[in-house]
Amino acid sequence: MVYIKSKSEIELMKEACKIAALTQKAIEEAIKPGISTWELDKIAEQTMKKYGAIPAEKGYPSGEKGVPDFPGSICSSVNDVVIHGIPSKKEILKEGDIVSVDLVAYKDGFNGDCARTYTVGKVDKNTLKLLEITKQAFFEGIRFAKKGYRIGDISHAIGKFVEDNGFSVVKEFQGHGIGRQMHEDPGIPNYGKAGKGIRLEPGMTLAIEPMVIQGKPDILELDDGWGIISEDGTNACHYENTILITEKEPKILTILE
Ligand code: MG
Repeated sequence: MVYIKSKSEIELMKEACKIAALTQKAIEEAIKPGISTWELDKIAEQTMKKYGAIPAEKGYPSGEKGVPDFPGSICSSVNDVVIHGIPSKKEILKEGDIVSVDLVAYKDGFNGDCARTYTVGKVDKNTLKLLEITKQAFFEGIRFAKKGYRIGDISHAIGKFVEDNGFSVVKEFQGHGIGRQMHEDPGIPNYGKAGKGIRLEPGMTLAIEPMVIQGKPDILELDDGWGIISEDGTNACHYENTILITEKEPKILTILE
């Protein structure tokens, strides 16, 4: 079921989302060759704590037998890792890498979710294009995140934009409603048919998150049961914001004003 948030719930959502954005800012400032993804994890945890939030991803159940709950405060996914990378002391970022950081701040009963892909030093031109197209795909999608449109309109806009630019969207994972739970209805695929799916209503809060691969769309799961990589080994990118559907334009809650 899709929860329409009340005014007071929206205020709490805004606060959790602002903390998520501030945490991304702290990570962005720290990224440089030589830093480990574990160090980024600690920065995220400390930043959220400073603002009275906790990292909701930590301890998130895998739902798979034999796979432990998620151990990190962030997902840190380097190069060909698409999503759900586990931060590690052994994983040192180097010049030319990209790292996707997906994080969720939880405060006063609500979640704020956002993902960014960062460059480490200088990266190649095609990778820069991947980052630009993935981010722009989000903005193409939210042109339809308005009262009167449907989920499929957002999905279709994202998928078409990515494919028109020669990259592939991941089909096995998708955006989602968000609020008291990190994952609520509706699911928001990054591909689909315009005019399909549920109608958008003011008060819905949605995490819209294009996941894009440079090469083929096929993915594999790492042995840790969490990390998702591109099968062909090409780079992958992730860009996500939590948004609020209003009577007019959508409000992006995880970008600092
Ligand atoms: Mg996320």
